[in-house]
Amino acid sequence: MSLQQTYDPDNIFAKIIRGEMPSVKLMETDNILAFMDVFPQSKGHCLVIHKKSEAVNFLDVEPEALNELIGATQVVAAAVEKALKPDGLRIVQFNGARAGQTVFHLHFHVLPVYEGVVVAAHASGKPASHEELEPIAQSIRKAIR
Ligand code: AMP
Repeated sequence: MSLQQTYDPDNIFAKIIRGEMPSVKLMETDNILAFMDVFPQSKGHCLVIHKKSEAVNFLDVEPEALNELIGATQVVAAAVEKALKPDGLRIVQFNGARAGQTVFHLHFHVLPVYEGVVVAAHASGKPASHEELEPIAQSIRKAIR
């Protein structure tokens, strides 16, 4: 997969946007969706996507959509900080399979880091259940301003 690829409207996140795949949602507007990462690398790991932009990565996103997306990412990151009180917070974004991108719909990861807790490997392992993710999502939702 090169960095210049065409958008696949059947990628997992497009299906989540259309409601064809389940997700544990945190925040949704006309243009933005934030939801829990189903392979969380840490407690509270979540993702923020634009619902209308068909950008594959950081290089092909329209500036206006990027503005909305990064603004929403800050809102979600602030809520994660307020709800879960991590010791650190990574905002992560991968471009191209070689760089670690596995879903080819532009997204930002909000990845809390806790002192003494190892951050799990990226996009691997066993998926978390809805029951595991929902209580964490609830606390983040409450903290979204
Ligand atoms: P990336 O590798 O940067 O493209 O990130 C894709 C992220 O999406 C990974 O962290 C995966 O764990 C996550 N992911 C994959 N499938 C799903 C899904 N169905 N629901 C929520 N997160 C997912």
